[in-house]
Amino acid sequence: MQSLACLLLLCCAAAVCAFPAVPEAGPEETDIQRAEAYLKRYYAFDTDGKHFARKNASPFSEKLSQMQEFFGLKVTGRLNSETLEVMEKPRCGVSDVARYSITPGRPVWKTNDLTYRIVNYTPDMAQADVDALILRAFNVWADVTPLTFTRLYEGTADIQISFEAGDHGDNSPFDGPDGFLAHAFEPGKGIGGDMHFDEDEHWTKGSERYNLFLVAAHELGHSLGLSHSTDPGALMFPTYASIDPEEFSLPQDDINGIQ
Ligand SMILES: [Zn+2]
Ligand SMILES: [Zn+2]
Repeated sequence: MQSLACLLLLCCAAAVCAFPAVPEAGPEETDIQRAEAYLKRYYAFDTDGKHFARKNASPFSEKLSQMQEFFGLKVTGRLNSETLEVMEKPRCGVSDVARYSITPGRPVWKTNDLTYRIVNYTPDMAQADVDALILRAFNVWADVTPLTFTRLYEGTADIQISFEAGDHGDNSPFDGPDGFLAHAFEPGKGIGGDMHFDEDEHWTKGSERYNLFLVAAHELGHSLGLSHSTDPGALMFPTYASIDPEEFSLPQDDINGIQ
């Protein structure tokens, strides 16, 4: 009897050893990875391949505090559900922290008369609707600045507008539906001023997600040299605002920013 028990134990031990230990991948670990990816993309967080997330006052915690402060959350430096909820929101792909720049201050165009070109179209809506929504986005900024915008139908304009999917050759690949919706480059030559929309989003002219006019008006702010605003009511706030596009008028914070 005793030898049988021993044999059973041996069998169990062998069975346990036969399966290699599975690395723990609980929700906590995936949340940390998601948060790290978010901070890398939008807060210039450099992990160097290391995970700092479980220690206090670590670079992770510092960057997380910066993000919490930006969004007006309680600054804890710890990953909590409130912070994760904000990270889940659809948003602009441009960083929330200023990039290194050779020239101090905001980059600006050297002329008030700019050109734009709609390089391609989304199959989500009629071309005439895309044209009208983009024009309306330009008018938002033309109304409060001395800038003029002339549409080109060929050649290279200051602001090239296109719909792109996934990796599209500018080191800032799109991520499929939701998440990161669009991005634009600050004033400058070449890609400077250009605006890209994620073709994997569903673009609309109405109140359903995502309204092309609202996103284009925001991205154009970047094309004209604005960074993100911490004012949740501002057009330049980084996350997508579900507001009625028909009721839109440029908030004061953005008018102050551009002027
Ligand atoms: Zn933005
Ligand atoms: Zn792009």
